[in-house]
Amino acid sequence: MADSRATQPKVTYATLSAGQTPEFNKAYDEAAERVRKDLGKTYPNLIGGREVAARDTFPDTSPSDTRVVLGRFAAGSRDDARAAIAAARKAYESIWRDLPWKERVGYIRKVAAAIERHRYDLSALLSMEVGKNRLEAMGDVQETADLMSYYCDQVEEHGGFETPMQTLSEKEANRDVLRPYGVWVIISPFNFPMALSGGPSSGALLGGNTVILKPASDAPLTGYRLAECYREAGLPDGVFNFITGPGSTVGDELVNNPGVDGILFTGSKQVGFGIYRDFAKDYPKPCITEMGGKNPALVTATADLDVATDGVLKSAFGLQGQKCSACSRVYVDQKVARAFNHLLVDKTRKIVIGDPVKKENWLGPVINKAAYENYARYTAIGRKDGRILVGGEPLKREPYDHGYFVQPTVIGGLPQDHALSRDEMFLPITCVWEVASLDEALTLANRTEYGLTAGLFSTDQKEIDTFFNRIEAGVVYVNRRAGATTGAWPGVNPFGGWKGSGSSGKASGGPYYVAQFMREQSRTLIRG
Ligand code: NAP
Repeated sequence: MADSRATQPKVTYATLSAGQTPEFNKAYDEAAERVRKDLGKTYPNLIGGREVAARDTFPDTSPSDTRVVLGRFAAGSRDDARAAIAAARKAYESIWRDLPWKERVGYIRKVAAAIERHRYDLSALLSMEVGKNRLEAMGDVQETADLMSYYCDQVEEHGGFETPMQTLSEKEANRDVLRPYGVWVIISPFNFPMALSGGPSSGALLGGNTVILKPASDAPLTGYRLAECYREAGLPDGVFNFITGPGSTVGDELVNNPGVDGILFTGSKQVGFGIYRDFAKDYPKPCITEMGGKNPALVTATADLDVATDGVLKSAFGLQGQKCSACSRVYVDQKVARAFNHLLVDKTRKIVIGDPVKKENWLGPVINKAAYENYARYTAIGRKDGRILVGGEPLKREPYDHGYFVQPTVIGGLPQDHALSRDEMFLPITCVWEVASLDEALTLANRTEYGLTAGLFSTDQKEIDTFFNRIEAGVVYVNRRAGATTGAWPGVNPFGGWKGSGSSGKASGGPYYVAQFMREQSRTLIRG
């Protein structure tokens, strides 16, 4: 990968629109050229510092144009997973566990620097592999580097999680230390293939554990490039291992093999809750599952509707609605519902759809055929049981004919307890319901198995206080034009879900994150 350290301002999800400067576009265009020249190669697994060639492979294609093969990856087997576990165990016991924490921090800071250096190439790749527009892609890359830096800061701030304790006699020296568990598996989803591979793996490594990363089969190339950043930072062999293949075989082996000490999974509730139930067998083991969301925005009669519609639009359709924090439900006070819907529909019609590598396009394709088919199914249900206010059609003609492009869609007129108010969908579809009061909106907003994010638009302090006190979600925003329910940033908005959205009650990018990968040991030494 080429060095692209540059003089650009930092892109975050909340400053996306400000980020696309001419310099940014030039650097991104050059990176896209470079990345394209490299497409179509076959990639190995990385186990114990060695490249392990694939016996069987699967193609990684672009959702913008399925004729484009980005790379071929190992359709790994259970044996590959076992080899990765053995390599991670060896590296844990022989070097990483006993390395002074300051050295671990030094390595992870180097990984963050490598990611920053390659950020344009990585961003262009993300656009091609998962359909992120250029700024969303840069956000994912920058977030990864910032997560790593923030976690390093946290470890330093806590002195490596070693705390002197009180004593009961002069001869006693007491310390409380957080120690690693051993081998951690990181299973990541397709939608933030950098941040949700790099953030968790760096957290586990900083805690003194060794890691096996299994990326989503829709985004293995980004995972591989991240592994290269780890390699560039010079991590000892076997400390970070990379293995691709189906969740149903490779993933299943990683989850059920007794040699694994901890798992951090990010993905759907269906898969994650299954792993949570299966993982611990002989004794409890840490299993952190970050799962889906059915995130509501609430709009009261006092809201600024221009701000509210901007915020809802960005969160409903950013990354084609495929964020765990996507806004898929909107509860609007009936007094302003007509005006709100009108404005939202108008703004939605102006969204520019197309190849996300091109700077003019904001909405890219959905990830794969299954998502494309789900879109047809959900819009048909919406049309039957409610009303499509805007959108509702897949895009089949040129230039969309080889990708999974669909129209952003707003649905109204559904019954309050309709299936579309419960299913995550994970598509550029949002549904709007009219409500009589904030009280009703809150009751409906909380009527879900999920509890990830939520947003309120109101200019009334009493309403704002009521929302903060009653909403059941881990990440909540009020009056956020940059995103009603999306766009958390490390060290700024810690990100983690309640209820069916997350198992640990602790958030990524937050002050308690790294400690989750460690266990407490109370050490008493009697002298003389
Ligand atoms: P997914 O289908 O659940 O897959 C997630 C990961 O799990 C992939 O790497 C997948 O591998 C693997 N997997 C599948 N079955 C497995 C099994 N039996 N054992 C072990 N691993 C298995 O999710 P996705 O479609 O990639 O991502 C979208 C979901 O992630 C949404 O529900 C979204 O809300 C959630 N998400 C949550 C957060 C959060 O922070 N809470 C953030 C982002 C996304 P394969 O790809 O090979 O099947």
